[in-house]
This record gives sequence, structure tokens and C-alpha cells, in this order.
Amino acid sequence: MLKKNTIYLLFIIFLTFTSYLFGARPQNELNIYSGRKLSLIEPLIKKFENDTNIKINIITGKSDAFIERLKLEGLNSPADILLTTDVARLFRAKENNLFRSIDSEILRKNIPKKYRSKDNYWFGFSVRARPIIYSNSRVDQRDLSTYEDLSNNKWKSRICMRSSNNVYNQSLIASLIINLGIKRTEEWMEGLVKNFARRPYGGDRDQIRAVASGECDISIINTYYLANMLNSKNKSDKKAAEKVSIFWPNQQTNGTHVNISGAGIMKGSKNLHNAIKFLEFLSTKESQEIYTKKMHEYSIREDVYPSTTVSSFGTFIVDDLELDKLSSKIKQPIYLASKKKWR
Ligand code: FE
Repeated sequence: MLKKNTIYLLFIIFLTFTSYLFGARPQNELNIYSGRKLSLIEPLIKKFENDTNIKINIITGKSDAFIERLKLEGLNSPADILLTTDVARLFRAKENNLFRSIDSEILRKNIPKKYRSKDNYWFGFSVRARPIIYSNSRVDQRDLSTYEDLSNNKWKSRICMRSSNNVYNQSLIASLIINLGIKRTEEWMEGLVKNFARRPYGGDRDQIRAVASGECDISIINTYYLANMLNSKNKSDKKAAEKVSIFWPNQQTNGTHVNISGAGIMKGSKNLHNAIKFLEFLSTKESQEIYTKKMHEYSIREDVYPSTTVSSFGTFIVDDLELDKLSSKIKQPIYLASKKKWR
């Protein structure tokens, strides 16, 4: 009799133990596809894991490839969150039915309306500005004024730009389409392309290097690239960055173009509770300070200040156009750029 009870007891212990192993484990996990580099977001991930005991599994790669992969995986995707940059990509993920709407008071409170989708499908966690940069030695900053002015032939063979395939430029063009209309944007692009000093190539850092080396005098870049180069251990990058300055365009008109990095939660998320917790964590003051100090981006929060380097770029008026509206125009720039031969 006693033996039978012992066996029964052992069986119960075994069941409890296995259900703990297979049941409890997934509850304490979170799976992220990240278009942002691991080195950038690692401090945030480590902090979240320590604070919550939730284990994060993260795969990093190209955002556009993740969107394609998520489309194929559908509701069976292991991913809970897509972390990416640029509102155009967040919009595309939403358009493809990948995200679910999230009702979180914390996210609504911490993230201003203009940095999240109307129906709460995606949320911005950092702000990036895309101003003009110019050569300290060859450009008088009094000659600069607006993005529109870069099509003036006084800048003939003096402008470097990265490819129009890049989503950052597509969003900038979309903002011009909204502010100027399609016809004026088309004329602007024609003039701009004529002013190119060379065929578009490379990333934002390459444009900074090109202005520094004298290949051209002017470009348009996201500020965190310049801030990161100014703080770089690579001496030649630091030197190049010191040869250029930021100019905030359109201060008398609609303001300088800004965009966001952000995230959304996948429709089929199996760790929904943890996923919401992580996004809420990203919006806290402490996390936002990691975004500004380690990545040199701007915060979505007004109570978090830019890094010392970024503060030295000065303050500026932001183009307040709704990012939701901007992303809905994102197909036109691609067409326009190919028509005007901005490769
Ligand atoms: Fe970037």
C-alpha cells in the first residue's frame, strides 16, 4: 500500500517537473527579429533580461528580408516582435497584416501620438533627423537654406547622395511630395540629380567621408552617423567627421525631416504578454537614455536629452508631418526616382 502511494507521489512530482520544463519555459521567452545591429540593442536586451527573467532570443539581419520572411511564416512565425528602422518599413509590415494592434496605456502615455501608428500597430522608440551636411572649408553655410534649394545649379557637381533605393531617402522624398506636391518634387529631383558630383553609392557614412575628402561639398545624412563617427576609435573616420558640419534645412518653412526606429508585435505572437512588456520597457526613461547615449539618436520622450555630441549639433525645428501620412506615400518616391534617374 505504502509502495503504491510512493509511486503515485513520484509520478505527480514527475508530471509537475515536466510541465514546468515544457510549460513554464515558453512563458519566459521572447523572440525578436531585429533589423537593428545586436551591438546597438544589446544593452537594452541585457537590462530587460536582468529585470524580468524573460529570456530573449534574437536574430539580427536586414529589415526588408525579415518582412519577406514574416510574410511567408505567417501566423506560424516564431517571432513575437519585429524591431526595425524607418516608418516606411513599419508601414509595409502593417500593410502586409504582420502586426497586431496593441492596447497599452504605458505606450500611449510614453510615446507621443506623432511617433506611433493611429491604430497602435507600430510604435516609435527613437527619432532620427536627416539634415544637410557641408564641408567646413568649401561651403559658406549662409549659402544653404532648404532641401529644395539643393536643386539650384549653384550646387552643380557638388552634391553626394546615397542611392534612392534606400528607405531613408524614400521617406525624405515622400515628405517633399506631401509638402510641395508631386510636380514640384519632380522638378526638384531633376535639378538635384544634375548636381550630383558622382553616381550615388554607399551608406550615410560614405557620404560623410566623400564630403570630407573633397569628392563633393554637400550631402544629406542621419545625424547619428556623424555623431558615431565623431566618437569613433577609428582615427580616419573621426578626422573625416570633424571636417563637416550639420545644417538644419527648412527652418523658415516646414522644418527638418525626421523619421523613427520602431517596432510592432506580430499577429501570431505566442509570448504576447512578454512582447508588450518589452515594448513598454523600451519606452521608459532609462531605456530611452540608452538610445540617446549609446546610439546617438533622439528620444521620443521630452524628458530625455540628446548625447553631448548630438547636443552640439544644436536645436532645430522638426517637420511635424504625420508619419502615418508620410508612409502612405512611400510608393511614389520609388517611381519618381527611377523616372528621374536617381539610381
Ligand atoms: Fe541607419
